[in-house]
Amino acid sequence: MSCAMLLQCRHSCKKGNRLLRMLATSYSSFVKDKAYINGSWVAAANGNTFSVINPANEELIGTVPDMGIQETQSAIDAAHVAFDTWRKTTAKERSAILKKWFSLIESNKTSLAELLTKEQGKSMADSIAEVTYGASFFEWFSEEAKRVYGEIMPPSTADRRLLIMKQPIGVAGIITPWNFPIAMITRKLGAALAVGCTAVIKPAEDTPLSALAICQLGEEAGLPAGVVNVITTSSKNTSDVGKLLCESPRVATISFTGSTKVGKILLSQSASTVKRVSLELGGNAPFIVFDSANIDKAVTGAMACKFRCAGQTCICANRFLVQDVIYDEFVKRLAEAIKNQLVVGNGLDEGVNIGPLINEAAVNKVDDFVTDAVKKGATKIVGGNKNSLGKNFYEPTLLVNVTTDMECMKDEIFGPVAVIIKFKTEAEAIKIANSTDVGLAGYFYSQDLGQVWRVAEELQVGMVGANESLLSAAEVSFGGVKQSGLGREGGKFGVDEYLEMKYICMGGI
Ligand code: ADP
Repeated sequence: MSCAMLLQCRHSCKKGNRLLRMLATSYSSFVKDKAYINGSWVAAANGNTFSVINPANEELIGTVPDMGIQETQSAIDAAHVAFDTWRKTTAKERSAILKKWFSLIESNKTSLAELLTKEQGKSMADSIAEVTYGASFFEWFSEEAKRVYGEIMPPSTADRRLLIMKQPIGVAGIITPWNFPIAMITRKLGAALAVGCTAVIKPAEDTPLSALAICQLGEEAGLPAGVVNVITTSSKNTSDVGKLLCESPRVATISFTGSTKVGKILLSQSASTVKRVSLELGGNAPFIVFDSANIDKAVTGAMACKFRCAGQTCICANRFLVQDVIYDEFVKRLAEAIKNQLVVGNGLDEGVNIGPLINEAAVNKVDDFVTDAVKKGATKIVGGNKNSLGKNFYEPTLLVNVTTDMECMKDEIFGPVAVIIKFKTEAEAIKIANSTDVGLAGYFYSQDLGQVWRVAEELQVGMVGANESLLSAAEVSFGGVKQSGLGREGGKFGVDEYLEMKYICMGGI
């Protein structure tokens, strides 16, 4: 998302907050207490449920069915049957449904954003931005649906004609995380549906309501029964449900966004059926500021890249590398920005731009990173403690004198903590940046054109932000290298994850 788009979202968020005060319960029509299988809203077979809690204040937002293997099998069967007819619809018909779905999400943006903020904790500005971004994939793939072309090859034998056609792979098992409860579904589902696949979605246990809300709008948009199914499950049943999705011969592909640890489990489980797997896993993004950088732009970029969604995105800047000549100036300016610009609180409150972390375990993990770094010699410039606002809040933090042996340099921080390491040369920065076994996003600020090319080419990541820190968009390919994943989502290549190529050789011509 561009800065302009983010600013526009922030602006519309202010208007959105005013509207919220007028329509205080508008989000509640989206709070479902049933999951969605084969076109029906259903409870768990054994009647079990689990609670969805607002991380900002522990308020109960709703309860959803705690489903297991039995319901997952029903959802897989429904998607399998629906595939037979959905794959035969025309691209134009699928496109029309996706486009209508996009419009419905757009026109319910404020209510969806409020629900998102309640169950995930992010600020209303961040939620509005996510709904906008999430909806954009349905618009994008509604257009791409019509552009799934095959190819005709010149034959080496005169009596043959050779061609490749692309066909939908089948049922997609979609497992999504809590940090982008809407966009991680739409980015996968838009591509799957556009080309004629059907889906079984398992949203994260912390944020099932947004998934069900999107599904409700899909029903209104005219989705036939069984084409999209949503299974809600608590952490107790998650691994059984995941295993069934991976091992079922009726599921053709698994698309997962989440931790590298779980991604590896799904990859190995999928081996039993030699399933297609696309994985969007963790990152450890370097954010390099060279001496030639425009410091104003680098600080603005750093704030958006680090603190958006309270630092809980897989493409957040994780390691700031700052060159020695501008180091002191950058540290001073970033510290001022953190102190002056960030307002922590309940994401629904006007002016708040940092909400809580998803749960107390996340806060403890972030605090462990800070404690470890300080023990090994880092210095706290801003924050560095749990926040007195509540057990799920952490202070926006800036640490300097960071070294490569600290845990915060090796692992995803996933919280509002910026850590800075000083470097002297371009080669040294590249070496540090690449010294990790993951490679999702990488950012750098430089006004030296040669350096821009060199560093963009050398960073071992799937996505590079050169003088830009918000790089996601529907029209580009999102994904990582090394242990950050397999495959790409969004853009024109996003449909490939859901397509099979079939070679046809016509002889005797
Ligand atoms: P995070 O650490 O960000 O919560 P996870 O990888 O644990 O990331 O979770 C991402 C998604 O994967 C969630 O929907 C979660 O329920 C699901 N998940 C977690 N463990 C498993 C598993 N063993 N099998 C299938 N899905 C899982």
